[in-house]
Amino acid sequence: MADGQPQPDCLFCKIVAGEIPATVVRQTELTVAFKDINPQAPVHDLIVPRAHYANAAELAAEAPELAAALLVEAREVAKAEGIAADGYRTVFNTDAHAGQTVFHVHAHVLGGDFLGRFGT
Ligand code: AMP
Ligand code: ZN
Repeated sequence: MADGQPQPDCLFCKIVAGEIPATVVRQTELTVAFKDINPQAPVHDLIVPRAHYANAAELAAEAPELAAALLVEAREVAKAEGIAADGYRTVFNTDAHAGQTVFHVHAHVLGGDFLGRFGT
């Protein structure tokens, strides 16, 4: 059972700890938001909980209040990036079929232009 403790080989735990640089957009007591290194839209940020959970399913099961905090923070990041009024997309990739590559849960926040239909 996951307990949120930092994992030694986790890229996003290292970003949270300041051991690997990132362009930080916003921070709260519970979360860190930073620019995606390979943006798929004019604005593409990632929001991670400071605590380590592998993906959205594990987070929802083990720390539902923190899952809620991530969604609340997505709105704050969108406002800070100036994309809240026109709209944005929030994505959680979970495991293989979704193409998850970093196994520290993160919300993608994408916007700044029309994004096209999902999955096309
Ligand atoms: P996912 O495929 O949902 O696991 O997304 C992982 C995301 O992390 C991808 O969009 C990558 O571009 C992004 N990423 C990987 N390494 C870094 C990094 N060092 N700083 C910021 N974003 C990163
Ligand atoms: Zn981690």
